[in-house]
Amino acid sequence: MKVHVIGIGLIGGSMVLDIKSLHPDATIYGIDTNESHLAEAITLGVIDKVGTFDDLAEADFVIVSVPVDVALTLMPKVLDAIGDNTIVFEVGSTKIPICEAVANHQRRRNFIATHPIAGTEFSGPSAAIKNLFQGKTNIICEVEKTTFKLQEKALDLFRSLGMRIRYMDPKSHDKHIAYVSHLSHISSFMLGKTVINKEKDEQDIFDMAGSGFESTVRLAKSSPAMWTPIFKQNKKQVVKSLEEYISNLTLFKELLANDDFDAIFNEMQSVNKIKEILNGMKK
Ligand code: NAP
Repeated sequence: MKVHVIGIGLIGGSMVLDIKSLHPDATIYGIDTNESHLAEAITLGVIDKVGTFDDLAEADFVIVSVPVDVALTLMPKVLDAIGDNTIVFEVGSTKIPICEAVANHQRRRNFIATHPIAGTEFSGPSAAIKNLFQGKTNIICEVEKTTFKLQEKALDLFRSLGMRIRYMDPKSHDKHIAYVSHLSHISSFMLGKTVINKEKDEQDIFDMAGSGFESTVRLAKSSPAMWTPIFKQNKKQVVKSLEEYISNLTLFKELLANDDFDAIFNEMQSVNKIKEILNGMKK
């Protein structure tokens, strides 16, 4: 089994670590524009060898795990280079642009659009961890556009990594993900900004910050190079989700300014049901 990962960072790296555990005989090839990431990935045992586009014709799986803007220009070149039995998937956080970018490619049927809902705030091969995808959802878009035999090959792999499969059209994916992922990141980045601007002395932040602050601001450690193109590609939905979020923040501010503490209590109580919703998701 030959697995090529293009973009040897958190997601691609974590995926091939699990593939190697499940298939010790597999050869994992890494392709990356970042030479130091390639060297690090070899040292850490994330990949076996550095690969090239010329090798892709022999690949069983090609995982494309690069920033979403890069994926748009890279994917047609990947599809040009693969063999008849190669299945290519990319793991980007937006789905409309990539599905449009490959729509008319003669090898569209060798491609499957995915978004594994798993991750951390860290990047690069040193962020790759085993079992990242265990119990997580993998959203698959336009599955009917992939050859059945190759679909099955990819789905078997995703299930073997412990992922639940969920099918969605690219439009629904980009709409829903704006709320549960993209908005959470903006909210965390801007919370971090608000506190940093106010607390110029960073020591004060460390002394007073509790676990609540730390967990809420965790996503603000994420890579701007990865997130800027995601916001750009999903701008319309992200702006819409931000408008709704800002209106909720404004309402809260007004209730507080007007001493309407009953309404504030009720607001928070009605959102407490998030506990049951999240517990239900874990089951
Ligand atoms: P990452 O850790 O930064 O890894 C991406 C790798 O791709 C880096 O080594 C990067 O090098 C390299 N790269 C950039 N341009 C390239 C090119 N033209 N050719 C080859 N390699 C290139 O990022 P990640 O967190 O794994 O994210 C990868 C993809 O997964 C993104 O599309 C993201 O939307 C998606 N995703 C992320 C998460 C998450 O939580 N992080 C979750 C689900 C899906 P440089 O660092 O030098 O740019």
